[in-house]
Amino acid sequence: MLLLALAPLAADVTQCVCDPAKPETMQARECSLCREAEKQPNGTKVFFLKDINPRKPNRWLALPRRHLPAQHSLAALTPAERTGLWRAAIDRAREQWGDRWALAINGDRVRTQCHTHLHIGRLIEGVETPNFVDVDGPEHIPVPEDGTGLWVYPVGGRLRVHLGEQLTETVLLR
Ligand SMILES: [Zn+2]
Ligand SMILES: [Zn+2]
Repeated sequence: MLLLALAPLAADVTQCVCDPAKPETMQARECSLCREAEKQPNGTKVFFLKDINPRKPNRWLALPRRHLPAQHSLAALTPAERTGLWRAAIDRAREQWGDRWALAINGDRVRTQCHTHLHIGRLIEGVETPNFVDVDGPEHIPVPEDGTGLWVYPVGGRLRVHLGEQLTETVLLR
């Protein structure tokens, strides 16, 4: 149990060299979401996957189909792609959880999969910290440039974005 809990900290996806033009480069375990992206029909912009971890039965992922270099950072998406990803994830999250939805993206140091993925879930009670900004819509969600993650949930018609953390998906119900 302890080993399982520590495993994500040992992964390093920041040096991933996977390239969709060369399928043999996407065989590593940390590239399994890349392989899922390749299975999606051409023209797909965003797709959803159920989290395969049996210990997280309530979780879904939202992913862009397009691959980005190395750790597939949010910053490497175009602004339109990024807004589209957030918007699709929010719609999906709201469908499942009403106004208790939240989205989280982990920082580079704790991610176990290279391909960009947002975690979708229900916000756990009492996890809020003072380190946040409120924004008017998905197009205004800040883009981390330093490898940190963020988590987002709705407050009074706006979006509250918590910044500067590595492990963020823990604010979501498993
Ligand atoms: Zn990879
Ligand atoms: Zn990929």
